[in-house]
Formats: sequence, structure tokens, C-alpha cells
Amino acid sequence: MQYWRTPLDAARMTGAHGDVVIIADRCKGCGFCVEYCPLDVLVMSREFNRKGYHPPAVVKSGGCVNCNLCEMICPEFAIFSVARPPEAELQRAAAEGGP
Ligand code: SF4
Ligand code: SF4
Repeated sequence: MQYWRTPLDAARMTGAHGDVVIIADRCKGCGFCVEYCPLDVLVMSREFNRKGYHPPAVVKSGGCVNCNLCEMICPEFAIFSVARPPEAELQRAAAEGGP
């Protein structure tokens, strides 16, 4: 992220992250979650679910900011995100060479 003035605690702050859970067989393939995810974390997959629709899939692992928009917008309650614990996020950031 680009700052006009770097915050003093920028190195310690990792921001919010979430893990997306998709209940594929509930999905009706409307594409709302893919269309409206602000960070383009999702795409429609080529898989078929039990109803014959294409459910979404995560393409940007680690890109979800746990905004819950996909959960709010899904008409079938087929997708939601779970906040990533800060410890896990710090470990992931450390493994990737910093936040
Ligand atoms: S919670 Fe927000 S950022 Fe994460 S997949 Fe859903 S819409 Fe995208
Ligand atoms: S908004 Fe819900 S029903 Fe529509 S594609 Fe996404 S998961 Fe499937």
C-alpha cells in the first residue's frame, strides 16, 4: 500500500484478512459474489455442482479482506468469509517476507 506519510506502526499492522468458505451445492451460479467482490478474489469455476451450476472459486488466496460483501449479497447463503486470526496472519506475513 502507498502512503503519503508512513504510519509509525505500519510494520506491525497487517490489516484484516479472511478465508472464504463456499458451499458449492447451494450455489445457483448467479455470479453476484464474483461481480461485486471489491478485490476480485473470486471467479466462476468450470466445475458443476449438484444442481448443474458453476459455483465460484477463490483465485486470490490471501486477498480476501473479510468485508463480508459476498455473504451479504448471496441470495442462496452459499458463501461467507471467516476472519483470519491475527497470529496466523502475522505468521503468513513473516513467511512471505514481511507485512
Ligand atoms: S469477504 Fe469481501 S473480499 Fe472476501 S471474498 Fe467476500 S467480497 Fe471478496
Ligand atoms: S452469489 Fe451465491 S449463488 Fe451467486 S454465484 Fe456467488 S455463491 Fe453462487
